[in-house]
Amino acid sequence: MNARRPSLDVAVVGGGMVGAACALALARRGFAVALLEAREPAPWRADAPEDLRVIALAPSSARLLDELGVWRDIVAARVSPYGHMCVWDGASGAELTFDATRDGRAQLGWIVENRLVTRVLWEALEAAGVRRMCPAHVASFAQRDVRVTLELGDGENVSAALLVVADGAGSALREQAGIGVRGRDYHQRAVVAHVASERAHAQTAWQRFTPEGPIALLPLADGRSSIVWSLPEARAREVLALDDAAFLAAAGMASDFRLGAFTATTPRASFPLRLQVAERFVAGGCVLVGDAAHVVHPLAGQGANLGLRDVAELADGLGEARAAGRDFAAAHVLRRYARRRRSAGALDAYAFDAIERAFAWQAPGWSALRGLGLRALDMITPLNRRLAAHAAGRAGV
Ligand SMILES: Cc1cc2nc3c(=O)[nH]c(=O)nc-3n(C[C@H](O)[C@H](O)[C@H](O)COP(=O)(O)OP(=O)(O)OC[C@H]3O[C@@H](n4cnc5c(N)ncnc54)[C@H](O)[C@@H]3O)c2cc1C
Repeated sequence: MNARRPSLDVAVVGGGMVGAACALALARRGFAVALLEAREPAPWRADAPEDLRVIALAPSSARLLDELGVWRDIVAARVSPYGHMCVWDGASGAELTFDATRDGRAQLGWIVENRLVTRVLWEALEAAGVRRMCPAHVASFAQRDVRVTLELGDGENVSAALLVVADGAGSALREQAGIGVRGRDYHQRAVVAHVASERAHAQTAWQRFTPEGPIALLPLADGRSSIVWSLPEARAREVLALDDAAFLAAAGMASDFRLGAFTATTPRASFPLRLQVAERFVAGGCVLVGDAAHVVHPLAGQGANLGLRDVAELADGLGEARAAGRDFAAAHVLRRYARRRRSAGALDAYAFDAIERAFAWQAPGWSALRGLGLRALDMITPLNRRLAAHAAGRAGV
C-alpha cells in the first residue's frame, strides 16, 4: 500500500492517445485517476514539423473526444475531414468507393496527427483532476488483496483498485499479467511520408492494393497527402534508402498516379506491422486497452479507433457499476468489458488480416475473382453502406 497515493481508484499506465483518453474519460466520471507515462508527449505546434504518424479518426472516435471536451480544440488546431474513400485492386483494376453523402453524412472521418490528439488530451488531464505522473516508468506490478501496487523505476510505489494497461503493442505489463498474444508478424513495414502532388486529393482517402501490400494516400489539411505504404521488410528498406526523386517516382507508380506525379516529400519514417490480439483483456484487477490489447494492420486505419472504443466501453461499464453503488473493479464488471471488446477487437483484427491476405495472394485467376467481388461490393448499396458504417465505428454493425 502506498502512503503517497492512498485513494486512487484507477492507475492508467501509458499516456499515448488511448491511455490519455481513458484517464480523462474515467476522471470525467468521478474516478480518482493517475496517469503514469515514461515520456512526456512532444508538444504540438502548427508551425513545427508535422507528425508523420497521422490517423484516420472515425466518427465514433470524434464523438468520444467531443464528450471528453477536447474535439473542439483538435478541430481548431488542424484536422482534415474526408468525404470519400476509393479503394482499388492494382491487379484487376476493380474499384470500391464510399461516399459520405450516400449515407447522409458530411464526412466519413478526419485525418489527424497522432501527436496533436495526444497532446490535447494531455492538456485536459490536469483540469479534470487526473494526477499526471511523468516521467514515470512502471517497472512491475503486484496484485495485493483488492488493490494493485505498481512499482516505479525510481523505487516508488503507487496503488489503485484497478490497473488499466495502455502501454502499447510491446506491453511489458501485459506480459507480467501472464496474458499471451495471438497473431502473426507481417514481416512488413509501413513507410510513411507527407507528399505534395500535381492533382488535388479532393478530400478523398485513396488506397491501392498491390501484391507487395497496400499504399494509402490520406488527405491532409494543407493539400498534401500522407502516404502509408505497407511493404515487405526488404523492399521497405530499399524504399527508405531511395533519394527523394526516386521515392516520389516509386510512390507515384505504386499509387497508379491517381494524384498525378508527386512533387515534394518530407523525410520518411517507418513502422513494423503485426497482427496481435491478447488472449485475455483482463487478469485480476488489470485491464488491457488500445494497442496493448490489439494491434491491427493499418490498411483499414482502425487501430486507434478500436482503442478509443475500448475506452468508451470501459468508462461506461465502470461508471454504471459505480452509479449503481457496486464495486467498479468487481470481476463481473471487468469480464463484461473483456467479453465485448475482445470479440469486437479480434473480429476486426482478423477481418483486416483476411483482407491483407486476399490482396497479397497471387494464384492464377484469383485477381480476376477478387476484381469481380470488389465490383459487386461497389454495386450493392446496402452492403457498401454497411462497410462504410463499420469503418465509421457505428454500433450495431
Ligand atoms: C503506420 C501506421 C498507421 C496507422 N494509421 C491509423 C489510422 O489511420 N487510424 C487508426 O485508428 N489507427 C492507426 N494506426 C494505429 C494507431 O497509431 C495505434 O493504434 C495507436 O496510436 C495506439 O495508441 P496506444 O495509446 O494504445 O499506444 P501507444 O501510442 O504505443 O502508447 C503507449 C504509451 O505507453 C508508454 N509506456 C510504455 N511502457 C511504459 C511503462 N512501463 N511505464 C510507463 N509508460 C509506458 C509509452 O511511452 C507510450 O507513450 C496506425 C499505426 C501505424 C503504425
